[in-house]
Amino acid sequence: MEKPVLIKNGIIISPGKPPKLLQNYKVILHEGLIQKVTSDFVDEKEYNVIDASGKVVLPGFINAHMHFYSTLVRGFAKTKFAKNFNEVLENLWWKLDKILTKETVYYSTVIMLINAIKKGTTTFIDHHASPKNVRGSLFEIAKAVKECGLRACLCYEVSDRDGEKIATEGICENREFIEYCKNNPDEQLKALFGLHASFTLNDKTLSAASKTGNELDVGFHIHCAESSYDEVHCVRNFGMRVVERLFAFGILSEDTILAHCVHINEAEMHILSDTGSIVVHNPQSNLNNAVGIADIIKMQEKGILVGLGTDAMTVNMLEELRAALWAQHFKNENPSCGFMQVFDTLMLNNSLITDRIWNIPLGRIEEGAAADIVLMDYNSPTPLNEETLAGHIIFGLSQSVVDTTIAGGKILMKNKSLMLDIDEKEISEKSRQLTETLWNNFK
Ligand SMILES: [Zn+2]
Repeated sequence: MEKPVLIKNGIIISPGKPPKLLQNYKVILHEGLIQKVTSDFVDEKEYNVIDASGKVVLPGFINAHMHFYSTLVRGFAKTKFAKNFNEVLENLWWKLDKILTKETVYYSTVIMLINAIKKGTTTFIDHHASPKNVRGSLFEIAKAVKECGLRACLCYEVSDRDGEKIATEGICENREFIEYCKNNPDEQLKALFGLHASFTLNDKTLSAASKTGNELDVGFHIHCAESSYDEVHCVRNFGMRVVERLFAFGILSEDTILAHCVHINEAEMHILSDTGSIVVHNPQSNLNNAVGIADIIKMQEKGILVGLGTDAMTVNMLEELRAALWAQHFKNENPSCGFMQVFDTLMLNNSLITDRIWNIPLGRIEEGAAADIVLMDYNSPTPLNEETLAGHIIFGLSQSVVDTTIAGGKILMKNKSLMLDIDEKEISEKSRQLTETLWNNFK
């Protein structure tokens, strides 16, 4: 039997309100959980000891909105120039998703997960689309997640943009995967019911999806008011705003995630607050698509739980965190606003979001929490304590290198070397071959 892991000599940062910093403590991992965080004497002979001298010990990062399927567009330059967000969707994403095969979905996921291990991200809430290969697609992603040893909550984005048959297949895929997760409890795999966005869902499909998701007793994961068009379309076609429509269809609850919410108004924020719905902010994607910057300071003042995702722009959560801070400063023309509200999205709220999906605590270093741990190289040039640690995370650790990544107590990378049964070079080679075909099929 494998020995339990003991991590010693590191500076431990345990997120919370307020976050804690522990020196001269040891973290003991056993059977996938953090068994102990202690300053007592421990007989090291019984353990697989990791010396974290010169390192900071953090919980594995959580990415609350992701699209694994987008990996293989890296470097792709064949699209027509988009003048707005709708053209980004039409010229690129809605053409790419149609030519994804089961194999490309699998490889896209593995590549992202390998990168995630290198950046210390151990949990994902993913949103998937492959309209010509809907059925079984979530199980392909799940296979990759299991093989790489990380955690993911999956869903298929139901949409009417490719017709009724594919929308129905999307509902079936969500149902099947949700039932699979219920019947096979596994803290690596979870499910939500996926919906694309209000502007690609007619009333009939939205109603059928709502009925199925609510019968299965799961939350939904949907893009909401990402660009202003979603609101304009909703008011024009349905006589109400996006959040009002989602509320009317029974989509909102404490288990539902709304990605973006860049263009919601105050009345919509009140509905989200009243229903306890979750917002996930994706600033790098919003900046890249030039859709605007969500008012996450006001949302949090109104009691909305706001987490941080990357919308597949990166798997590096500390990079996204920095961008989130700059985005709020820029939006408010105020270089001092929102520091803790931004910090909390990643370092507190993402963990509160996963509490609503997972049965064990993630994103914390405390007894009983998941043994998902990251060691980052960090010799602090200035005092590092509980008062200064948020600044160190945003301005210092975000520039540091991840040395070791552990998920579920399993060491996935040690001393910057992957410990997986997967050959990264082979995977990349195969991925390049698949991408060539994928790009040739892009019309
Ligand atoms: Zn997205």
